[in-house]
Amino acid sequence: MSLIVVGSVAYDGVETPHGKVDRMLGGAATYISLAASYFTPVKVVAVVGGDFAREDTDLLVSRQIDLTGLERVPGGKTFFWAGVYSADMNDRTTLRTDLNVFADFNPKLPASYRAEPYLFLGNIQPALQRGVRAQLDAVRLTGGDTMNYWINDFRGELLETLKQWDFLLINDSEARLLSGEQNLRRAAARILEMGPRTLVIKRGEYGAVLFQGGRHFMAPGYLLEDVFDPTGAGDSFAGGFIGYLAGRGIDPSHGDLDFAELRRAVIYGSVMGSFCCEQFGVDRFRTLTREEIDARYSEFKNCTDF
Ligand code: AMP
Repeated sequence: MSLIVVGSVAYDGVETPHGKVDRMLGGAATYISLAASYFTPVKVVAVVGGDFAREDTDLLVSRQIDLTGLERVPGGKTFFWAGVYSADMNDRTTLRTDLNVFADFNPKLPASYRAEPYLFLGNIQPALQRGVRAQLDAVRLTGGDTMNYWINDFRGELLETLKQWDFLLINDSEARLLSGEQNLRRAAARILEMGPRTLVIKRGEYGAVLFQGGRHFMAPGYLLEDVFDPTGAGDSFAGGFIGYLAGRGIDPSHGDLDFAELRRAVIYGSVMGSFCCEQFGVDRFRTLTREEIDARYSEFKNCTDF
């Protein structure tokens, strides 16, 4: 049983206080897939241009990520995003977003993907997210994320889409924008009325809060000695979260997702987000092992037990 991941596969230009890289592999679907691949088989749905390098495909293949659904547009250019981080790396400014082939992305699932039960919809146009779900014959667990642009300018579409989701994973500013509430607890209650029965609000270095029913669970961010590049941390969190649930064979059809499993999924999300920050771009995933992931998960347990 595999996880389908939909979203951007990109080249990124990133500047942090630790250095600058003009062009490297990035994209939300890339980070989500790499992180999830430590827990479950992953099948990606995305589009790239003729400039997409063989070594980048090789990295994804080395993690057993299925690229049948990675569409290539021979004459086109891959989505490019560039950003610069503030000194404390809690803020970033987008310098460039060249959609390129991503502008016409209309995800079509290969036949070999259609029976898969797990779906994570990265940040794309909400109607397209809905279209992807409709192509799956036996989807069991659907979730995803979104961003300010869709919340502001495609609100109606987004609300339609959210009705079909089991969980939503967004950051705190998006949660405030979507709900119209400044207080996060109230924001969560509003969002849970929109469809998803489980909500995870990411809070960057401060961790994440999980909401379900009347309950919530707070996970801290792992205290790293050095953060080199936070790009993709939120997506890696998402990959760890959904990857863990998919790997466990979770089935919410008989009611709410099990809260204890969700708590573990949030901690695995936090663990994967923290590893992502240790090197530039996707570099940490070139060497990361499942043993290192489990060791950090145990450390989390010790750091938060009282
Ligand atoms: P994160 O740091 O987790 O928010 O994810 C950063 C990744 O999102 C980068 O690798 C970018 O390539 C990708 N990205 C940035 N802007 C967009 C966008 N508008 N649509 C899709 N992906 C994007």
